[in-house]
Amino acid sequence: MPTTLLSTDVLVLGSGLSGLRAAWAAKEQNQKLNVTVACLRNGPSGSSFTNRNNALGYQLLDTDDRKATFVEEAMALGWPGFIDEKLVTILADESEPRFREMEEIGLAFKRDTAGHLTRHPGCGSLEPRSVIFDDLHASFNRYSKRTAEYNCNIVTDLEIMGIIVHKGTACGVWGRSTTTGRLTSIRSTSVIMALGGPAPLFHGHIAGAANPGLGYGIMADAGITLANTTFHQFMWGRRDRSFVNPATLLAPGNVILRENGTSFTPTDQFGATLTDLRTSRATHCPVFHDRPDTILDRTLMDNRWDDGFVRIKAHSQTMETSLFAHAGNGGAVINEHGETSIRNLFAVGECATGMHGANRMGGAMILATQVLGRRAGIEAANRSNTISLIKKNDFNDICDNFAIPDQRDHETATVNTIRQEMQRFALFGRQVGIQEFRERLKEQTRSRNRIIQLTALSALEASRPTIEEPLRLEK
Ligand SMILES: Cc1cc2nc3c(=O)[nH]c(=O)nc-3n(C[C@H](O)[C@H](O)[C@H](O)COP(=O)(O)OP(=O)(O)OC[C@H]3O[C@@H](n4cnc5c(N)ncnc54)[C@H](O)[C@@H]3O)c2cc1C
Repeated sequence: MPTTLLSTDVLVLGSGLSGLRAAWAAKEQNQKLNVTVACLRNGPSGSSFTNRNNALGYQLLDTDDRKATFVEEAMALGWPGFIDEKLVTILADESEPRFREMEEIGLAFKRDTAGHLTRHPGCGSLEPRSVIFDDLHASFNRYSKRTAEYNCNIVTDLEIMGIIVHKGTACGVWGRSTTTGRLTSIRSTSVIMALGGPAPLFHGHIAGAANPGLGYGIMADAGITLANTTFHQFMWGRRDRSFVNPATLLAPGNVILRENGTSFTPTDQFGATLTDLRTSRATHCPVFHDRPDTILDRTLMDNRWDDGFVRIKAHSQTMETSLFAHAGNGGAVINEHGETSIRNLFAVGECATGMHGANRMGGAMILATQVLGRRAGIEAANRSNTISLIKKNDFNDICDNFAIPDQRDHETATVNTIRQEMQRFALFGRQVGIQEFRERLKEQTRSRNRIIQLTALSALEASRPTIEEPLRLEK
């Protein structure tokens, strides 16, 4: 099948908040460079611009006290995951200038009638520091306008399937054109991964659109050092996926109905400790890993019925609730410029980790997309000044090894099965059957279909019980 071959200096993968911020930063650093954003969809996408809340919180750290408290709280939340204080401090120090830019491009931050920004505590903090902008469609238009003003190129129909690494250095990507179905490769001097998080690997998820959730697999296959990939953010939701906090579900008078016909009340289970546990749990929407209040989420998990939903009788009504994947806290281990363990390969937004660990404070992810997105764009531009593109012949020789998968029906069915099994076995508190599931995934990484390979590899990363040797695809 013929290949479409494109070239650019800086190549950004993904058009969420982190990808678009990285793209302008590269242009701000050097107008003469060719900067290309490659993504799946022409329009708003990802958790940045298509999330169901239509609003996003941002940690605005505009005083020394706010910066210091943020760093202290973020570091405490990171345990038992990997967290790098240097990155957390950079987020704190650069929060205000990035916020000013977001205001300058016209994001609609909420203000009270007197015109003051309204502030809220982010999940995991009691201090009201977060500011909120809404209308994500309009926000996308503002970011796109700025990207267009900088003359960035946009490729809107590329399903990315792999990063090309030559002699230890990133030099491009390959994938499938969603319009022609053809193999498309892009040569570049640097690559910035901004493909979003792993939540879509779970059948029940509330992440944004146009993200198949394959970032972990693509990065693992390229040989990037990853961390925290086992730490996902899950939230409890009703059948319509609207959020409900366990502090409400486990109110003292409520009754948890077991599938075998028996029942119990939260007070039966927790006695006098219930008040403190509920007070703590009410301060964050996602399940926190390894915290005292995690026991409330575990109790709900242990009492799910076969369909994955818990039944709780409150007054005369029965509520049904299940866990939905919302975001990931893992990704590539990066330095202060967003560079990964592979030279000229950067990772930002939900593709990166270390600026948070096992648990992440609300509003800190959008902060990270802007601070580290900009830093990665600047550094990628600096690299592009000093190095040349890989020779076309060498690049073509590498691309000869890639093949676009056929058998789309088989691909869709297998990917759906993996997502259902992730939901069954790999929710927080791994379930019985996880080992056998992971063995099946290892088999599937040997599939001849690249999408099945990447889904299986991503799922293996996302279902790790503990830190293990990196997993790779068999070549
Ligand atoms: C409901 C909800 C509420 C949230 N609220 C907050 C909040 O208030 N504060 C906060 O800090 N965080 C919040 N988050 C998390 C935050 O929104 C995301 O972590 C963040 O927006 C991720 O940005 P990103 O640029 O890394 O990825 P995304 O915005 O997800 O963008 C990923 C991009 O990559 C593209 N892509 C993915 N895979 C491929 C592929 N194979 N080929 C081509 N393109 C691909 C997608 O189409 C998209 O353009 C929330 C998340 C959700 C779901």
